[in-house]
Amino acid sequence: MKLTAAAAIEADAVVVGAGPAGTAFALNLAPLRRVLVLDRRDTPAIRIGGSRIGESLAPAARRLLTDMGLWEAFLAEGHSPCHGGRSVWGGPLPVEADNLRDLDGPGWHLDRGRFDGWLRRMAASRGAALLVPAQPLAVTRDGTKDGEGWLLEVENAGRRFPVRTRLLVDAGGRGSPLAKRFGARRTVSDRLVCGWVHGRDAPGRQSGLTWIEAEPDGWWYSAPLPAGRRVVAFHTDADLPAAADARDAGPLLRRLSCCSVLSQSLSACGFEPDGQGGFCAAHSSALSPAAGDGWLAVGDAALGFDPLSSQGIFNALYTGLAAAEAADRHLSGDPGALPGYAAGLAPIRDAYRTHLRAWYGLERRWRDRPFWSRRVKE
Ligand SMILES: Cc1cc2nc3c(=O)[nH]c(=O)nc-3n(C[C@H](O)[C@H](O)[C@H](O)COP(=O)(O)OP(=O)(O)OC[C@H]3O[C@@H](n4cnc5c(N)ncnc54)[C@H](O)[C@@H]3O)c2cc1C
Repeated sequence: MKLTAAAAIEADAVVVGAGPAGTAFALNLAPLRRVLVLDRRDTPAIRIGGSRIGESLAPAARRLLTDMGLWEAFLAEGHSPCHGGRSVWGGPLPVEADNLRDLDGPGWHLDRGRFDGWLRRMAASRGAALLVPAQPLAVTRDGTKDGEGWLLEVENAGRRFPVRTRLLVDAGGRGSPLAKRFGARRTVSDRLVCGWVHGRDAPGRQSGLTWIEAEPDGWWYSAPLPAGRRVVAFHTDADLPAAADARDAGPLLRRLSCCSVLSQSLSACGFEPDGQGGFCAAHSSALSPAAGDGWLAVGDAALGFDPLSSQGIFNALYTGLAAAEAADRHLSGDPGALPGYAAGLAPIRDAYRTHLRAWYGLERRWRDRPFWSRRVKE
């Protein structure tokens, strides 16, 4: 199909990706501007060939959800509060920490599909147009707008049509699908991967605590989920032999039962895997630049976090909100809005790196093993 700007759908901002970052951007900008959100998947949070991981929401997210006017609606969604965690990290015995003194209250264990779907509905209820399954095929400068805007060829359910916009938002997750077209580069800091299985705890035996446990070639994570479900995950580096155990449920569960304290806790919960699981990259990465002429990136498309930080969804919501504010100023003619947004990400990235180094640095039992020697510096 040949693009003709005359017949194009018009939007002030087009967002590619309807995960937490894209929908947070859309729901904050839609009351002020015309926002179109595209996602290649019609159902949120389901990975092809398996279930999705990423469900621990930090207590501080309460502030963001309150700022966005979403707190009461979030509570009504029925996610499980998380009052603390147990870790086997830096020594062989489990240590418990609770959130009782956290001024933001508890953290949350999300039903991730429900959470992402709810954010999509919130964006639509505030006026954003959501088109799924849809993706941009071609992206060019819009000659009719003095090089100011963009012309997209969008594919939606087998149809192709043009869309014209002044601002493009890359909310496409770790692949940064738009920003890469504009020459932005992702710097990857490590080779962390994650394999996981989902399942159920026995009725009445679920513990509400998050579990983190270090082992010679990586670390374990487990969290109870709403409706009696649970996720169990193993993290290691892609180039280590242990990565073979992360790829499939059978080897992962065998490794769990032979080598972890976590397996005893899961037995106490009556955990039974149900065959759903997956494997994905989980490394730290940063996009540079995170904004340019008429575009910006939000969420994982801008900054990818190690899951140990439990910071990904919080960052997606935060950058979605901050980018919506910057977008409104940009669309009003402020030339510093997009560069200012990008500059604001640098301190987040630096603080994250410092905290991550400190967390890995607490575990010194296996400094001679590759996974830990790469992360724990003398
Ligand atoms: C193993 C693992 C565990 C994690 N655990 C946690 C956790 O416990 N707590 C936490 O806070 N965070 C966690 N995270 C991170 C968290 O899941 C992400 O930070 C969060 O999903 C980022 O949201 P996003 O909207 O930026 O990207 P995503 O959620 O990845 O959404 C991107 C969207 O873009 C769409 N898309 C991509 N390309 C295109 C295209 N070309 N056209 C149209 N649509 C496109 C996708 O379909 C998707 O819907 C974890 C991550 C990993 C890898």
